[in-house]
Amino acid sequence: MRRFGDPRLWEIETPVYRRFLAKVRKMEGVMSLLAGDPDFETPKHIREAAIKAIEEGWTHYPAWDGYIDLRTALAEYHSQYGTDWDPESEVRLFSGSTPALFTCFVALLQRGDGIVVFEPYYMGYSPVFSYLDLKLSPVSLKEERRFHPDIEELKEAIKPETKMIVVCSPNNPTGTVYNEEELKAIRDLAVDHDLLVLSDEIYDQFVYEGKHLSIAAMPDMRERTVVILSFSKTFAMTGWRLGAVLADKEVLSLIKKVPIGGRPAAFIQKAGLAALKGPWEPVERFREEYRKRRDFLAEKLNEIEGVSCVLPEGAFYLFPNISGICEDSVKFCEGLLEEEKVAVYPGIAYGKTGEGHVRIALVKPIEELKRCAEAFKNYAERHR
Ligand code: PLP
Repeated sequence: MRRFGDPRLWEIETPVYRRFLAKVRKMEGVMSLLAGDPDFETPKHIREAAIKAIEEGWTHYPAWDGYIDLRTALAEYHSQYGTDWDPESEVRLFSGSTPALFTCFVALLQRGDGIVVFEPYYMGYSPVFSYLDLKLSPVSLKEERRFHPDIEELKEAIKPETKMIVVCSPNNPTGTVYNEEELKAIRDLAVDHDLLVLSDEIYDQFVYEGKHLSIAAMPDMRERTVVILSFSKTFAMTGWRLGAVLADKEVLSLIKKVPIGGRPAAFIQKAGLAALKGPWEPVERFREEYRKRRDFLAEKLNEIEGVSCVLPEGAFYLFPNISGICEDSVKFCEGLLEEEKVAVYPGIAYGKTGEGHVRIALVKPIEELKRCAEAFKNYAERHR
């Protein structure tokens, strides 16, 4: 048969992480610390709000950009970081931040544009970067700098074709929480070079050291920043598919023109509104639990010869260096999976800078993370 469709799609390779995930799914008895999918239940008041909304008949086509009450609640939520988005024209709902990200990249970049990204970066960006044939200029987040960027390297990464800087803070997979000085340096470069900034803030509630800042609130940044938010991690709502874009109306009007629809179901938006209204106690509970898991597992991993683990400042992943055992992260993960039945992602899936590391999602209780620590220890003893 002829090859139909866009040749760009044929060329996109299945990412490393998808191949790894497919392998894990075929195996039995594996403890998976792969996906960033919280093990907590969606809080009760949110579930109840969804059920009530269905019973009340919120089952029709929802408003095109999302219901205004939810957009207003999102603008208010984000104003805690110093922004002032207009709910009418500057907030749009999506079925999760994944389609929001795709739509923003497609709307704001052209094939062949340059993009600066801090590496290791969230692997979900990669297929879109490939699809748009973007010229990536990675800025490394190195372990010796506690995964913080070197601003000189950032300056050098900006090329004549660069159109956008992607900032993900707190960062997946390294947990980096960008500080004010770093964000200011990024801001200065974005303004001087007339660049857009995509600010992926979906882990904003999970900060253990420092505090979450939004670059959108910095001077002259509102017109050039696209903020991505999601309910997935904050409220343990990964399966509900609810996310949002907040951006200046000129920018958002372009994003709205991408014909992908993608609005979330009516009753899910009602649940989202209940989530933002609170109570917020469950989110605080999640944060404290992740903090305990982080402290526990990082300490255990640091006791293992050949492994070193920086304590992440945010998000809910550990990104330990395993190069003292095996330089090749895919090989390490395959070995750990086969011999110890514990699944973690190879760091190379997050870009070349991630090689020599693995990502562990802290989505299991401490009791189970003990097994993970044991698995690393046993594996290290055998292969060091
Ligand atoms: N952005 C980052 C940095 C992520 O880690 C993820 C998921 O892991 C997403 C976006 C996508 O989240 P969702 O589509 O569930 O909103």
